[in-house]
Amino acid sequence: MPMSRPAGPTSSRAAPSAGGKAAPPLVCCAICGTESQQPVFRPLPIEQPPDLDLRPGERLRGTMSRWLQVCPECAYAAPDISRAHPSAAEAVHAAPFRALIAETTHPPLARRFLAWAYVLEETGALHAAAEATLQAAWVADDAMMPDLATQWRLDAVALWRAGPPLDVEQELRVVDALRRAGEWDAAVSTAEATLARHPPDMIGPALMLERRLANARDAGRYSMGSAMPPPSHRPHVSHQKLQAGRGFGDGLMGRFVNWAAKLFRRE
Ligand SMILES: [Zn+2]
Repeated sequence: MPMSRPAGPTSSRAAPSAGGKAAPPLVCCAICGTESQQPVFRPLPIEQPPDLDLRPGERLRGTMSRWLQVCPECAYAAPDISRAHPSAAEAVHAAPFRALIAETTHPPLARRFLAWAYVLEETGALHAAAEATLQAAWVADDAMMPDLATQWRLDAVALWRAGPPLDVEQELRVVDALRRAGEWDAAVSTAEATLARHPPDMIGPALMLERRLANARDAGRYSMGSAMPPPSHRPHVSHQKLQAGRGFGDGLMGRFVNWAAKLFRRE
């Protein structure tokens, strides 16, 4: 028997369930009013450091297929399709949105992120649109489609730069996107301009790593752990705190630290 779900979105209710097992909630699309079952996404603990572009480590990394809900009727995609910007319906019905979701040469999950990015862009949330476009690039990475990953990284950079001024953490992500798209000179100059802003904490070492990788024409994926200065360069307590606070295994962090130590000796 259907029951109300006070903890969920106000426009959701539980789907009829069989055998007493809870079914995913029915969600009412804010664009077209269609009700559908949608996956419930609960962030999992992160047990590995993020990539330099802040793509989360596992186990959160492996959950991308559940980050967005999709309306089966109008294809509106969003973290919560029961909510929408007042202008979102116009975007969802526009030709570019329909073309995006019909583009069969793109992985279906990437289309979902690009559809959400389009709605965000059309409603003025340019940095959020950049984020969603970068997530499409991550899908392309996983699907071994490097040309699409490059295209979407550069699209993400354009969206970031079209929005309000970027903080140093966002600039790091721009640098990473440029480097991984093979835009070496732009990656180096953006890294240097951001280093001149005296970025705090992990951002400075990560930018130095980015600059080194770009100069070496290395478009590979690296984690934040790769940018860690060796322990001898860090106060003992804060290093321990970092390990404990982020839940990294000693062995895993040790590998990152050794790798970074080699890298920094050549600096
Ligand atoms: Zn809909």
